[in-house]
Amino acid sequence: MYQNRVKSKARLIIRILAGVSLSGCAGSAIAADAPKSAVKRPTLERFKEEHLQKTHQDAEAVRKARQNIGLPTGWRDIRSIFHAHAEDSEHTGGTRPEMVAEARKSGVSALFLSDHFRPPRDFVTPERAGLVDGVLLVPGSEWAGFLILPTKSVINKMKTPANELLDAVRENDGMAFLSHVEERQNHSMEKLDGQEIYNRHYDAIVDSKGLMSLVLAMTSKKTIDDFQHKIDQYPDETFAFQVEYPKLYLEKFDRELLKKRLTGVAANDCHHNMVLLVKKIDDTAVLVGTNVDKDSQMRRIPVSLAPGISELVAGKKPGDVIAKVDLDPYHRSFAGSSTHIFSKELNDKALREAVKGGRAYVSHDWICNPEGFWVDVKDSQDKNIGMIGDELKFQADKSQSVHVRLPAPSALVRIICDGQVVGESTNCTEAKFKVEKPGVYRVEAFQMLDGEYRGWIYANPIYIR
Ligand SMILES: [Zn+2]
Ligand SMILES: [Zn+2]
Repeated sequence: MYQNRVKSKARLIIRILAGVSLSGCAGSAIAADAPKSAVKRPTLERFKEEHLQKTHQDAEAVRKARQNIGLPTGWRDIRSIFHAHAEDSEHTGGTRPEMVAEARKSGVSALFLSDHFRPPRDFVTPERAGLVDGVLLVPGSEWAGFLILPTKSVINKMKTPANELLDAVRENDGMAFLSHVEERQNHSMEKLDGQEIYNRHYDAIVDSKGLMSLVLAMTSKKTIDDFQHKIDQYPDETFAFQVEYPKLYLEKFDRELLKKRLTGVAANDCHHNMVLLVKKIDDTAVLVGTNVDKDSQMRRIPVSLAPGISELVAGKKPGDVIAKVDLDPYHRSFAGSSTHIFSKELNDKALREAVKGGRAYVSHDWICNPEGFWVDVKDSQDKNIGMIGDELKFQADKSQSVHVRLPAPSALVRIICDGQVVGESTNCTEAKFKVEKPGVYRVEAFQMLDGEYRGWIYANPIYIR
């Protein structure tokens, strides 16, 4: 199927959706929803081997169709991770050297750290900043519902009211983002540079059945073997089985973009703390938990609930770790979601400037490496007049158009203006949308995996005033 898509690369379907008002949409309902697929699979169904396999095959086909395409002269696509944890709390399993090594291996060039604040320890320290083995570290903290990335220590401001803290953080190129947006839907964005537009942790917490299925997978020899087999064969698909379209996050983003410029980033929220463990209590029960849990935090599962435990505990001593499945090594978390920054240089100052300028997009990289993705605005002479993050003046003769270019065919590319879908293009590596009205325009790209549209790219907006 994808082979045909490559051949039909030039084919371009532009459909302005019926019923969408083309005159000013500011103030209208913010209602972009996940695109409708033929099927919507519950996460428990996605977690079954046959569906992981089909998802894997479909993603593999996208990757095979991918071509290396360069960016306009001078620009680099710098793959970065926002909201990253290492050796910063009792619930974090990973270390900073481990994270840097995995970043290098994965093609991640910058890590925007989010240390859980543990006074009196500061998080703006020399070892958390600058290039380490070719990976740029940007010191920061997850605190009071924000990702803060100051350029100098704000340790004496951490306990001050939010407004005071944010003012201190944002001095001299410091940045602050709203985090875990589900908990603060109505939070003011006045003193913030942006917000998370995707958060892996949110997908996990709203899917308690999916989380429970991971625990139950650890309660018999057969299910543990099956689980390990899935991780070996389909690691990224398994890690992504709970990932959904981030409607709640994007709704807030679209609503706030009507008021001010903001940059959306992906909350990776990696901790390397999902190494699932089974410990023997006695012949009648086990504890199931993770590498960061104390025994008291693990879940006790008795034989009466999971008969397979009898076989698991046979011949083991109480306290023995019987089984271990590592779901979230850093490289897999990174593949799950990252933030790509368009910058001409890789250094702290350049990346801050690019992020503040909105020159970034969020991607679920495991589906297919998105590098080569580019959006620009052209005039009637086909001349480039703007890119992601830019502010442009609306041309009343409607001669402007937004051009999207992708390194692999996308099942669906859509453009959203002020929170409403105003154009779609299917099965294409290029898409072009006419600018019919002023507004805040952002692009989303999806892939069809196992019959479902799965989000691939969520770009930051272009502002056409
Ligand atoms: Zn944490
Ligand atoms: Zn976090």
